[in-house]
Amino acid sequence: MLEWTIIGGGIQGCTLANYLLKTGRINRCNLAIIDPNTEPLATWKRCTKEIEMPYLRSPSIHHLDIDPFALEKFAKGKFGKQSKHFYGPYNRPSLEIFNTHCDMLFEEIKLKDSWITGKVEKVERFKQRWRIFLTDGKMIESKNVVLAIGLSDHPHLPIWASDLQQEGADINHIYDQPKKRPIGHQEKLLIVGGGISAIHTALKWSKQKPGKVQLLTRHSIRTHPFDSDPGCLGRNI
Ligand SMILES: Cc1cc2nc3c(=O)[nH]c(=O)nc-3n(C[C@H](O)[C@H](O)[C@H](O)COP(=O)(O)OP(=O)(O)OC[C@H]3O[C@@H](n4cnc5c(N)ncnc54)[C@H](O)[C@@H]3O)c2cc1C
Repeated sequence: MLEWTIIGGGIQGCTLANYLLKTGRINRCNLAIIDPNTEPLATWKRCTKEIEMPYLRSPSIHHLDIDPFALEKFAKGKFGKQSKHFYGPYNRPSLEIFNTHCDMLFEEIKLKDSWITGKVEKVERFKQRWRIFLTDGKMIESKNVVLAIGLSDHPHLPIWASDLQQEGADINHIYDQPKKRPIGHQEKLLIVGGGISAIHTALKWSKQKPGKVQLLTRHSIRTHPFDSDPGCLGRNI
């Protein structure tokens, strides 16, 4: 029986795995991470690549390692001058350096040794443990279970959009996987939404289709340094 099983190998699941292993609370052989993808952070990498996000929406101290300055130290060590990898007063890291740091971390803690590729369909309490059932018929027993399945695999379409989709309209959620038809084959694109993903998508496609991309938002374009207020982490900006 395993000590800890983490369901979902995304940002949260891998952060917890790193913490448990690095603080010596657990050995690799007592830990499992279950995720349908063969690689950690697959959903994160897919979504951020889809919109070509250049810098994170969060400051440099938000990363998967324990030391808050681990990412900055890594960037300085590996790339010498760090400035091109950080943006703005809170040093928002480039996606490239953030992902490279994550990959380095996974190597360091040998995360793959705990990785199980599979999708969980049911978890049941059995005596003093949990029984975790996978869609391929496997069953794993574990003392502790953490659910870290995120939301990015379940994009929300408003009713009007799913109705149109069912009628055959060429309409996708940007994070749909797989998409009915790939985005970009159309001559013109209409992007509905006024948040960061909509703006990144508009920037991406207007480079490839100048003058053919329209953005439909409920409000004028708002600018903020982050997607949420990080004031609790330091000075307000
Ligand atoms: C484009 C984009 C940019 C973002 N930028 C930032 C940023 O700069 N800073 C920031 O702090 N946040 C950012 N976010 C938010 C951030 O991605 C999420 O908060 C974070 O990914 C949540 O982590 P998670 O582990 O809960 O989910 P995820 O990273 O989505 O991982 C969940 C994992 O669970 C797996 N899973 C789902 N169901 C099952 C199942 N039944 N069995 C097994 N595995 C399952 C999924 O396949 C997935 O691999 C961004 C989000 C997006 C979409």
